[in-house]
Amino acid sequence: MPQRIVIDSLSFVRDEGSLQGELPVSGLARLHDWLSATDGAVRYRVDAARGPQGEPQLRIEIDALLQVRCQRCLESMRYPLELRNLLELVSREVDLSQEEVEDDSKDLLPAQRELDVVALIEDEIILALPLAPRHESCTPPALGQGANSVSPFAALTALKGRSS
Ligand SMILES: [Zn+2]
Repeated sequence: MPQRIVIDSLSFVRDEGSLQGELPVSGLARLHDWLSATDGAVRYRVDAARGPQGEPQLRIEIDALLQVRCQRCLESMRYPLELRNLLELVSREVDLSQEEVEDDSKDLLPAQRELDVVALIEDEIILALPLAPRHESCTPPALGQGANSVSPFAALTALKGRSS
């Protein structure tokens, strides 16, 4: 059953809240497109924090050993995730200056009365996953296997035909 954890983000920071736990990967459905296996669990921790001017922030820690698919050999590979992020809560009305938008040291998150923590953790993981994960060294699936593959000689013949 999907877990649901909801916090009022600004109250959470005001009360110096702290949340931690484990979520089964099988329950994080939005991650499944990126994964080759959905066993295991994600450990997370969310802590209230304050910026230099007292800005409300959430400090996010996510640790997991995920299974992603190598984009070269298409086999499964382990991807250890050690994510640390600081999200600054901003009210929706605030007009963000370009400078703030371009500041990479922190991410901005609209303050919400009902912040879905599980969805936030899913978002953070999706942003952190590599687009094209690859083993350090591996070989692509062998050519010439499978009914639809074209023989390299046929491809060569076709090339020769074109140049003459
Ligand atoms: Zn590989």
